[in-house]
Amino acid sequence: MKVTILGSGSAYSDSRRFNSCYFVEASDERFLIDCGSDALRGLQKSGVGLSSVQKIFITHMHADHCGGLPAVLTAMHVSGRREPIEVHIPFTQLNFVRLWLDNFFIFPGRMSFKFSLLPLTAGEIKLSESVKLEFIRTNHLVKYSDLAEAAGIDPVSFSVVVREGSRKFFFSSDLDSLDEAREYIRGSVSLIEATHPSLGEIAALAEGQNSFLYFTHIPMELESGGEWREKLGSKFGIEKLNLVQDGQVLTI
Ligand SMILES: [Zn+2]
Ligand SMILES: [Zn+2]
Repeated sequence: MKVTILGSGSAYSDSRRFNSCYFVEASDERFLIDCGSDALRGLQKSGVGLSSVQKIFITHMHADHCGGLPAVLTAMHVSGRREPIEVHIPFTQLNFVRLWLDNFFIFPGRMSFKFSLLPLTAGEIKLSESVKLEFIRTNHLVKYSDLAEAAGIDPVSFSVVVREGSRKFFFSSDLDSLDEAREYIRGSVSLIEATHPSLGEIAALAEGQNSFLYFTHIPMELESGGEWREKLGSKFGIEKLNLVQDGQVLTI
């Protein structure tokens, strides 16, 4: 399995770190996990062909994880893509996304390819005999429960485990606490977000310097010389962090 980091940035992206987007190749399966606002740039910069993406899975509806969807679908159409694509959206926002795309004139009947919007729920999706995805609900958006309820939506967000035979890749996406990720990190190559957990949690996880553990969703405070990075050194004694870079490929 190969995971190409197309966007390792936080919600505040810049030219070095785009918003959340990961291209996974496992057996014959090729898909994106997340499609943040810079996804089209990330695909172009890493040389991932627009026609090679078969499916897109959105972990939650923050713009840094889904904002690039209209631009990517439009670019696929303009470039004459023929291959069908499935886009999996957190189930509570499926109707919103359908309407959202309609308002960009991205009508399924008008595109050069067939596209289906499908509801993403917790549980397993079997892509083939050997490739399976498991989506796990997280508490990232629970802090907005009151506002979400008033707006009539369920604050749904997911982590995901990708299995190819006995190989396992875990992407935390955004979390409330690293406690939610702990049981999935074991035995996996893990990509853990580093914006929302506390510095203490990040330090505790980084302490072992496990070569199968990587941090992503990097806020600028965590870059070399940043305020959090300094504190990790001075307060927790963590000198090195396994931060991924855009364009990096993890082979699992
Ligand atoms: Zn995010
Ligand atoms: Zn988020």
